[in-house]
Amino acid sequence: MLFDLTNEQASFKQSIEQFAREVVAPRAAAIDESGEFPADVMRAAAPQGLLGVTIPGAWGGAGRDYLSYALALEAIATASATVAVSLSVTNSLVAELIAHAGREEQRDRWLRRLASGASIGAFALSEPDAGTDAANQKTTAVKSSGGYRITGRKVWVANAEAAAVVIVFASTRPGFRGEGVTAFLVPMDAPGITRTARADSLGVRGLGCMDLELDIHVGDDHVLGEVDRGFGLAMWALQGGRVAIAAQALGIGQAALGEAIAHAGQREQFGQPIANYQAIQWMIADMATELDAARLLTWKAAAARDLQQDCAFEASMAKLAAAEAGHKAADKAMQILASAGYRRGSVVERLFRDVRATEIYQGTSEAQRMIIAARVLADA
Ligand SMILES: Cc1cc2nc3c(=O)[nH]c(=O)nc-3n(C[C@H](O)[C@H](O)[C@H](O)COP(=O)(O)OP(=O)(O)OC[C@H]3O[C@@H](n4cnc5c(N)ncnc54)[C@H](O)[C@@H]3O)c2cc1C
Repeated sequence: MLFDLTNEQASFKQSIEQFAREVVAPRAAAIDESGEFPADVMRAAAPQGLLGVTIPGAWGGAGRDYLSYALALEAIATASATVAVSLSVTNSLVAELIAHAGREEQRDRWLRRLASGASIGAFALSEPDAGTDAANQKTTAVKSSGGYRITGRKVWVANAEAAAVVIVFASTRPGFRGEGVTAFLVPMDAPGITRTARADSLGVRGLGCMDLELDIHVGDDHVLGEVDRGFGLAMWALQGGRVAIAAQALGIGQAALGEAIAHAGQREQFGQPIANYQAIQWMIADMATELDAARLLTWKAAAARDLQQDCAFEASMAKLAAAEAGHKAADKAMQILASAGYRRGSVVERLFRDVRATEIYQGTSEAQRMIIAARVLADA
């Protein structure tokens, strides 16, 4: 590797690759087939240091840098995209945000549990009318004595099936969009939370996505960070989340490349392996090149996450490039395997479905382009 990893980064990467191969990969097809949340794999991930990866040791986390985290998520995603995104949500969107903005008692209450795998976290920002336009929050939090009454509907809440805690974003100043959103730390067993049936999705099946109907009362001590400042917190968490999703997309793309190489070497047509044909070689060359280019952007964004308060630009570039490289790699792998890939139940068929979500969740590719363009044009 051109970029030297420290001994600690290299040995963590190696141990996660082994865990991915031996524990996660054998479960991947069944997770996809059943659509069940992989609670057993998530439990097994905790002793590997895959929960609370970047959370400081003082709060029960592994205290690792973001590059280590990205390398680990890429390795997990080569085995199961579902497990990788579930880890990214509980780590980047929940634990990191509590560590970043939580009060001491909130950190005490949740971080050890999230880092040990005793609790899984969920992040509820999206609503029926607040997708890309996430500031258009219709869920409201109205002040009542000693706390807030939160009412509304959240959609596509990943991990909801298994989560013990959810960060709920709600408007505390209707009409003020992002200037009037507050984040609340809500136990999933709070009276007044109704979960709908699990979403039946094309890919990353097993992510436990549910909609939440909310009519709850929470105390003032459930506010995460400052009142009316929750939208900025959501955007901060998503910066880390996007680095994690970039790593996930790379893992899916890398798995597709591996499948394509293996198939091209053993499948013979016209009396020789199809890997001998330049048409196949060029597809493989493009897959490898585009994945590696995106990997460098992902590592750059991971370094920025460690060094800077704001890495929105780097994270968006990484997610955009990796999601598109992963998508193209899965598409080319399908072409190289042809009917063998198109068959339901083939690994490439699963990768092809899984990778598509990386261009949608935690901000679509269009949303990433908006962030990138705004910075590039402002700097021009
Ligand atoms: C599997 C999965 C898991 C998810 N997990 C979570 C979760 O845990 N928590 C959570 O809060 N949300 C979650 N989401 C929701 C996700 O973040 C949203 O789907 C995403 O932000 C896009 O919103 P939307 O689907 O409403 O699309 P829309 O916002 O309706 O967008 C539709 C299309 O229009 C484009 N578009 C929108 N506005 C513009 C514009 N101004 N300029 C150009 N193009 C534009 C979009 O890019 C897209 O192509 C999840 C979604 C999925 C599929």
